[in-house]
Amino acid sequence: MRDRERIRQRDCGLCQQCRAQGRLTLGDVVDHKKPLWAGGDDSDANKWLLCHQCHDAKTATEAAIRASGGVP
Ligand SMILES: [Zn+2]
Repeated sequence: MRDRERIRQRDCGLCQQCRAQGRLTLGDVVDHKKPLWAGGDDSDANKWLLCHQCHDAKTATEAAIRASGGVP
């Protein structure tokens, strides 16, 4: 089974950030919780399913942090 499908099944097909806020949103993207460039690893424990909206917001935040030379 591919990683993406394994994570999707583990996370019940739901966006984990929305879920943490009590919203049930179908997830679209498997993302690294802690980005690889910030020292995150490629294990399942560091991956989660996000919807496009959460993924885009997280990516934008991380890009800003990265551009300023910081690490989350
Ligand atoms: Zn979401």
